[in-house]
Parts: sequence; structure tokens; C-alpha cells
Amino acid sequence: MPYKEMPRFDTGLTELGDGIYAYLQWDGGWGVSNAGFVDGGDEGLLVIDALMAPSMTREFIEGMRSVSEAPFRQLINTHSHADHTNGNQFIEGAQIVAHKNSRLEMIAARKLTVEAARVNPPRGEKPGWIRDAWWKELEEVDSPLPDITYDKSLTLHHGGLSIELRHQGPAHTTGDSLVLFDEQKILFSGDLCFFYSTPLCRGDMENWMDICDLLVMLDIEKVVPGHGPIGGKNEIADMREYFEVIRNQTRQMFDSGVTVQKAMQSVDVGEFNKWPESERNAMNVSHLYGKWSAESA
Ligand SMILES: [Zn+2]
Repeated sequence: MPYKEMPRFDTGLTELGDGIYAYLQWDGGWGVSNAGFVDGGDEGLLVIDALMAPSMTREFIEGMRSVSEAPFRQLINTHSHADHTNGNQFIEGAQIVAHKNSRLEMIAARKLTVEAARVNPPRGEKPGWIRDAWWKELEEVDSPLPDITYDKSLTLHHGGLSIELRHQGPAHTTGDSLVLFDEQKILFSGDLCFFYSTPLCRGDMENWMDICDLLVMLDIEKVVPGHGPIGGKNEIADMREYFEVIRNQTRQMFDSGVTVQKAMQSVDVGEFNKWPESERNAMNVSHLYGKWSAESA
């Protein structure tokens, strides 16, 4: 794949048609994720993801309020990560819907936070990827858990639209949801799509590759990724190629007995090294080693 720089886009709303809106955040880096919503007229708003720092969610809500003053009805969490769920409490009155594993992951993350807080108040030690400006803001966050969970798929009906949530097994996390507007040929992929930046794998990269194959078979035209600009099947194919390169290279090292530390240092994904967040290459190698070690144990 010849390297393509991330096309410039602005933070804000993009109208996709039939009352469906994407809310993008430049530059799609660590903690800077996308969201969306459906304006269901009298039925109110259905929101997709809630962003991370309260100031981000407030800006997103301001955007929604420029379209509609109707109440929030439902909030879909595409997965458990803080940059998609921290804002849950600010989407007031909405029922929260997520995959059952995302709810479990959120409970586990809370326990970790409580554990960390005991040692080092008020919220444990700041992880490196969280910017200083967000850190104080995060004291406000008390992200409520999903009220409704599902296993394989769930269809929501809102404002005359059908919205299908689909879980295709572990990939970015163990509880990823695809949010599919079949009739409009629009997909909100959550972090099953990172466009023009290095994807981070916490679930199962090999299954994620299969999901990429499935996505390019779907009858969709627009994909709102978890991070980066709106794209389509070409961007999904680039991501699939990245996985292929890092997976095969890591497998060779694993099979020839290279240690995980050495593999993390020496991984070289060629043109894909230029993608932002390239530190995730080593994290992805570590993920693959963990998976294969567990399988061969
Ligand atoms: Zn994520």
C-alpha cells in the first residue's frame, strides 16, 4: 500500500441523510474519537458513543442541540473504551445499549480504577496517552453502565429507521458492536475501523481480519470509523493489509523463537510505519504473542 496521509477534516457534525449525523473529532489520535446521532423527530435522539473528556461531550451535545431540542432516548456504546463511554452520564435520560462483553469490560475497568485510587488518590496514576488538559476534567466522570445488552445482534427502531447492532466476536475489544443502517448503506463501526492511523488490538486480530473481509462484502457506502475521517471500503482494505503485514511478520518471529521483547523492538510494517500512533505496532505484537502463547500452552 502506498502511504496516504490522513485527509484533513474538521471537528464537528456531518449530515449523512435521513436524520443521521456523524460527529468527527480531528485528529483521531489517542482519546480523540468519533460519535454520531439520529434525529428521530418527536421520538427524540438516539446517540452513538459519548466521547471521553467532558468538554468534548459538551461540544458534541451543543452540536446535537443545534439540530434538535428533543430528549435523548438511547445511547449506543460501540465498545467499552473510555474515549467512547466516559461521556455516558452527560447524555441524560438515555438508555444505554451495548454488547454484553462491553458491560463486563466496563465493570472490570471500574474495579481497576477503584483499586488504583486506593493507592494513589484521586484516580490513580495518569496513563501516558491521556493529555494533561483532560486529566483534571476526568474527575467529573462517573460513566454509568449499559442498561441493555445483547449477544449476537439487536435491532433498534427509531424515527422510522432500523438500526442493527451486530457483534462478530472479539476484535478491537471483546465486545465490539457494528452499528448498521442497512437501508441508508451507512456503517458506524466504532473502533473496528481506524482510518489513516494505526489500529490498536485488544481483542483478537485474526478474527478482526475476518471481520474486515465481511465488511467489504456488505452493501455499504459510508463508514464512520471510531477514529479518523469518514471513509469506505478502500480504507477498510488498507487496514486489512496492515493486519496482514504485522500478523505475518509477527508469526514468523514467534515461530522462530524470537522473544516478545525483541519482536516488539524489531517489528517493521514498512509504509504503515508512517501512520500516526505507530507505538501501537509494538502493542499489537505483544497482543499476538499473548494470543499464540495461550493457544500453544
Ligand atoms: Zn477503542
